[in-house]
Amino acid sequence: MQTTAASLNEKVQAVWNKRPMIISGPCSAETEEQLIATAQRLAATGKVDMLRAGIWKPRTKPGMFEGVGAKGLPWLQQAKKLTGLPTTVEVATGKQVQDALTFDVDVLWIGARTTVNPFSVQELADALRGVDVPVLIKNPVNPDMELWSGAVERVARAGIKQIGLIHRGFSSYGNTEYRNAPMWHLAIDMKLKYPDMPFINDPSHICGRRDILLDTMQKAIDLDYDGFIIESHIDPDNAWSDAKQQVTPERLAEMLDSIVWRREDVNSEEYHAALEKLRNQINQLDDELMQILSRRMIIAEQIGQYKKDNNITILQTNRWNEIIERATARGEKIGLSKEFITRYFDAVHMESINHQKKVLDS
Ligand code: PEP
Ligand code: MN
Repeated sequence: MQTTAASLNEKVQAVWNKRPMIISGPCSAETEEQLIATAQRLAATGKVDMLRAGIWKPRTKPGMFEGVGAKGLPWLQQAKKLTGLPTTVEVATGKQVQDALTFDVDVLWIGARTTVNPFSVQELADALRGVDVPVLIKNPVNPDMELWSGAVERVARAGIKQIGLIHRGFSSYGNTEYRNAPMWHLAIDMKLKYPDMPFINDPSHICGRRDILLDTMQKAIDLDYDGFIIESHIDPDNAWSDAKQQVTPERLAEMLDSIVWRREDVNSEEYHAALEKLRNQINQLDDELMQILSRRMIIAEQIGQYKKDNNITILQTNRWNEIIERATARGEKIGLSKEFITRYFDAVHMESINHQKKVLDS
C-alpha cells in the first residue's frame, strides 16, 4: 500500500478519532524480522489501528535489554510501508523526539518513568515546540496525579494540540496481583479532568501477566475507556523484554472478540425514562444521607462540648475501634464491603473530629 504524507496524516487523524482505538506491537523492537512479522500478523487480524514498539527502553536495572536504539526506526518505517499501520514509539529525550520525527513516527508516547520527572518532560516539550504530532502521556509510576496533569500542561504549552492519556497502573511495594496497581479511581479522576482527550488503557503493564489481561480489558471498557495499547509479540515467551505479559497477534484478536463492547449512551426513550426514574431515587437517598450525616455532626459537636468541659482528648481509640467493628459486621450482612465501610467511616470520623476540634478551639 503506497501512502503519501497527506493521506497518512488523514489516516493518523482517523485512528486518533476511532473508538475503540487499538494500539499494539512488541514491548521492544528486537530485530527487523521480528518487528515486521509482528506488524504483518497484527494487520492481518484487521483489528489493530496502530503499531507500537519500544526502541529506547527505560529499564529499572542496568544490564537488561535497553532497546535497539535509533537503528530500529527504519524498521518501523518499513513496517508502516508494508502494513499501512501508523506507528508510535516511546521518547524520553529531546534527541529521541528529533530522531523519531526524522523517521516519520506518527505518534509519540511519554513513558511512566519519564512522566515522573518534570525536567525530562520539559525537555520533551521543548523539542516538540512547533511540531504537529499527537502525543500520548502515560501516568507516572507513582500515584501522583499532579505530575500526570503537570506533564499534560507542559506538552500543551509547547503547542501540541492532540494529547492522549495512557493509564498503565502505579507501582507499589511488594508482590501484588498486578504488576502495577490500576487504582481505577485515580485514573477516572484524570479522565474526568480531561474529558476530550483519548483515554487509553495499557493492560499489559497493569497486569504484567497474560492470565488477567482480558478481565482488566473488560473492566476498562465497562469504565468507558477509549481504547488499548497492548503488547504483542510473535513469540511472547522469548521476548527480550516483558515476556510474561505479551500475547501473540492472534490471541490479541481473540481477546478483542470476546470483550463485551459497551457504549456510553443509546437512543432509546424507554432506557432513558427508566434510568431517570432510578436516578431520581438515588438523588432522594443521597439527600437523606446528607441530612442524616449533618445530624450526626451536630451530636458529635455536643460530645465535643462535654470533652472540652472535662478536658478530654478528641481521639478515643477504643471508641473508634468499636465503631468500625460494629459497622463492618453490620455492613457485611447488608451487602456493603468491609473495604467500603472502613473507607466511609474513616471519612465520617475525620469530619466528626474536625467538627469537635472547632468546638474545643472555640
Ligand atoms: C512500555 O510501554 O513498554 C513501557 C516501558 O511502559 P511504561 O512506561 O508504562 O513502564
Ligand atoms: Mn513493556
